[in-house]
Amino acid sequence: MIQQKVQLLKEKGIVVTIQRMAVLDALEEMAELHPTVEDLYRSLKGRYPTFSLATVYNTLEIFHKMGLVQELSFPKRERCYDPNTEPHPHFFCRVCGRVWDVGKTCPIPECPVLKIKNLGGKKVEGIQIYFYGVCQECRNSK
Ligand SMILES: [Zn+2]
Ligand SMILES: [Zn+2]
Repeated sequence: MIQQKVQLLKEKGIVVTIQRMAVLDALEEMAELHPTVEDLYRSLKGRYPTFSLATVYNTLEIFHKMGLVQELSFPKRERCYDPNTEPHPHFFCRVCGRVWDVGKTCPIPECPVLKIKNLGGKKVEGIQIYFYGVCQECRNSK
C-alpha cells in the first residue's frame, strides 16, 4: 500500500516526503467528504502536530498541478479536493455545504459530456458537473 503511493508520487515526478505521503493518505481517507484544505489540515494536525496549514496548501497545489487530485469549487464554499481525477458528477447541498459523488444514483451514469477532451480546438482540462439543492438531512431538520 505504502509502496503503491511512493510509486504514484514518483510516476508523477513528485519528490516523496513524509508530509506529502501523509496528505495523500488523508485525502484518500476523506475522499467521500471532498475535503477542503482546512478539513485536511485538521485531520493531519491531530496525527502530526508539526503540520502547518501552508504545508497542506502547498502540497495540494503540487498535487493539483501534477494531476493527482481534482479541484472542485462550489458557491460560497471553500475549494475542495477529490483524489478521483476522472470527471464525475457531484451533488452540492446549499444548506450544509456538503458535497457527494452522485455515483449510481445518477439516472444517466455514462454522461457523454464528461468525456469531452476538445471543444473546437480548445483543450478541455477539467469538467465540473454538479447538481445542487438540499440534502435529506437538511430537509428533515427543517
Ligand atoms: Zn445538507
Ligand atoms: Zn467526487
